[in-house]
Amino acid sequence: MKLERGVPLARLTTIGTGGPAAALARPQSLSELQDALRYAEADGLDLVVVGLGSNLLAADEGVDALVVRLEGELAAVDVDGTTLRAGGGATNAVCLHRARGAGLGGFEFACAIPGTAGGGVKMNAGAYERDWSDVLERALVVSARAAEWRARDELELSYRHSGLGTREVVATVEFRLEPRPPEEVKRMVADLVARRKATQPTNKRTFGSVFKNPPGELGAGKMLELCGLKGHRIGGALISPMHANFIENAGGATSADCVELMDEARRRARERFGVELEREVAFVGELELED
Ligand SMILES: Cc1cc2nc3c(=O)[nH]c(=O)nc-3n(C[C@H](O)[C@H](O)[C@H](O)COP(=O)(O)OP(=O)(O)OC[C@H]3O[C@@H](n4cnc5c(N)ncnc54)[C@H](O)[C@@H]3O)c2cc1C
Repeated sequence: MKLERGVPLARLTTIGTGGPAAALARPQSLSELQDALRYAEADGLDLVVVGLGSNLLAADEGVDALVVRLEGELAAVDVDGTTLRAGGGATNAVCLHRARGAGLGGFEFACAIPGTAGGGVKMNAGAYERDWSDVLERALVVSARAAEWRARDELELSYRHSGLGTREVVATVEFRLEPRPPEEVKRMVADLVARRKATQPTNKRTFGSVFKNPPGELGAGKMLELCGLKGHRIGGALISPMHANFIENAGGATSADCVELMDEARRRARERFGVELEREVAFVGELELED
């Protein structure tokens, strides 16, 4: 198994920040993946799986871990009847394209989620009142010593959460879709993408939603907007002038800039609304929010 040393996570994350990974493996098959996981275990290295890095913030100092990115067979997609089988590293865009080509619908909601099938399981990603738990049938979960299929109910999926452990990797995902004419899928996707573009900074470097929406009527974005945070900048990180629950890399941002902005946002939401905002973005390496 080939390992790359010192690859900056800035290259693997959509926000474009993050220092070097101790080691990076790009397994192409299940056996290569398990080799990599055993290597990490034997060397006492932490494990970080990276999909498209679209909900990840990595420490500027780097990450003392084996970073794994699924490629080859582990990013392939095929269709069997109404089942779409995707490698954990398959992008949502490719899954959707294959589903449409096969006359299958149900996955349209994922059109604006720029991640992978496996990352979607970990985060129980969702949009427009649907999430992975609505279409996921089962997932192949792999660790250094085992590979087992887990049915949807065994994955403990809830709002942007799954019960997957830190050393568990989703290698394959099976989605149960439904017959739908490709033209209809195309129309639905065009409509959702247009809605997205009108409300979110889709053409900027971000890591998606910063905070989970707290219970109640008011979403995190609206709350932070009412705190006057739209356009607030620290270093190269900017609270999106378009949607306050996004942080943009406005040029030269560091992960530390992003964390400082998040601290400021949480402070203001606490003062004004008495709400403790919980981060949605996954932290990798030595990153922490203030209490
Ligand atoms: C512009 C933009 C819009 C977005 N809109 C949405 C939205 O509408 N809804 C939404 O839910 N999210 C949204 N996101 C966030 C993000 O796209 C999702 O959370 C996505 O599912 C993350 O997938 P990923 O493959 O990029 O995972 P990464 O960001 O690479 O990783 C996220 C977490 O999943 C883990 N992980 C990744 N792959 C695997 C795997 N194969 N097995 C086990 N663990 C894994 C990582 O270790 C990490 O903990 C948006 C992001 C951006 C940049």
